Amino acid sequence: MPVYQAFRFELDPSTTTRSALGSHAGASRFAYNWGLALVKDRLEARQVLEVLAMRQGAGAGEARAWAAETAGPVPWTLYSLRKEWNRVKDESAPWWRENSKEAYNSGFDALARALKGYFDSRGGARAGKPMGFPSFKKKGGRPSCRFSTGVIRVLDDRHVQLPRLGVIRTKEHTTALSDQVVAGTARVLSATIKEEAGRWFVSFGCKVVRRDPVATYPEAIVGVDLGVHHFAVLSTGELFENPRPISQRARRMARLNRELSRRQKGSKRRARTRAKLTRCHARVANLRRDTLHKLTTQLATAYGTVVIEDLAVKNMTACPRPKADPENPGHHLLNGHAAKAGLNRSILDASPGELRRQLSYKMSWHGGHLVVADRWFPSSKKCSSCKKAKATLSLSTRTYRCEHCGLVLDRDHNAARNLAAYGREHLVAGSGPETQNGRRGDAWCTSDTGAHSPKGPRGRKRQDGSGQPVKAVTASSQGEAA
Ligand SMILES: [Zn+2]
Repeated sequence: MPVYQAFRFELDPSTTTRSALGSHAGASRFAYNWGLALVKDRLEARQVLEVLAMRQGAGAGEARAWAAETAGPVPWTLYSLRKEWNRVKDESAPWWRENSKEAYNSGFDALARALKGYFDSRGGARAGKPMGFPSFKKKGGRPSCRFSTGVIRVLDDRHVQLPRLGVIRTKEHTTALSDQVVAGTARVLSATIKEEAGRWFVSFGCKVVRRDPVATYPEAIVGVDLGVHHFAVLSTGELFENPRPISQRARRMARLNRELSRRQKGSKRRARTRAKLTRCHARVANLRRDTLHKLTTQLATAYGTVVIEDLAVKNMTACPRPKADPENPGHHLLNGHAAKAGLNRSILDASPGELRRQLSYKMSWHGGHLVVADRWFPSSKKCSSCKKAKATLSLSTRTYRCEHCGLVLDRDHNAARNLAAYGREHLVAGSGPETQNGRRGDAWCTSDTGAHSPKGPRGRKRQDGSGQPVKAVTASSQGEAA
């Protein structure tokens, strides 16, 4: 089955190449901002001219038409942005030849997408959070640049070649991709360079023909409960400990944040502290991604069906709006903000949304199923033995004790067993409506072959990510936590 898959490697650039990488990413940002300024100028000019024409006594429709014609067209699309740029680039950016023209193109492409996203979102054609009008890209963000034409190659297992930048050494072996290119099972379509906390990465977008083995136990169903105290508990009783990457680094982050606030704005020391903080965040993100990939790969290669909960992350991490205190005007009742903050951190650490995303494509690779239990399924309150549910179960109760059949079990293990039972019911009965899982089905998924992270349990490199949406079974409506 052909899938779109991204392979990410850390680069090991020479000083010259490092500045060339920065220059390309900077050029992309420049093009984005240049295009956005042009769009804004034209829109503003239209408005001014329209008002002017109306003052002269023109009708509304007439004034708008005249203003649009006089101000010139607004370059909404990649094509029109490029056309405007090619007309003036020699004059307004005589240095443009220093970078590959792909760098500017990538900035215009990002802008055109942002503009389209804004209009689609406003017109209701786009699902998800509303998108605002694009804003200028500040310096010091996450510089990146995408190449889609020219020489984009994986030379051998330690070198890649990019347009204008030439041959660059990688910090890690590119075998995961280069072997497949040699074998003819992967074709490189594009490359994106990106800086993260001072390190440069390249991500190759590829079309890959995958032949994944079926799971070791294709008939087996496993329930997975994402816990607060453990990272995950399986219905088999297997335990995955919480890496708690943020908790481990929370003190260091707090110290760095304090340090940052004491530093003078614009000073070198402040920049240095900020860089330290960014590296800390990047390390946490890498750790978290690594743990999740290990867990999901292990599940997908072992089991035919994985059942997870539909956790509405947004609801779990939100605080109730503070209510006014009737006895003390001007004050508010406690809304449990502080208590929730601790819980939130753990939930966000475990990133259930990302777990679901990874499982949905990995299960499809191995021919398995992902079952997402209905949001209202009482996986924690139900007894996994006699199926009777408790009315309440506080979060602090770590052990489930059933008053009907006398079952005593770890709370999360009990929940995982309920989930497995849920999956068995819905798969065997086949009664659940099949729905497409994952809104971002067409998105690129990035793998992390991670020289920076410890190797997987079997000591081999991972190849993760695809664009194949997977069929999932749900009892009722799909949640947003895709
Ligand atoms: Zn019971």
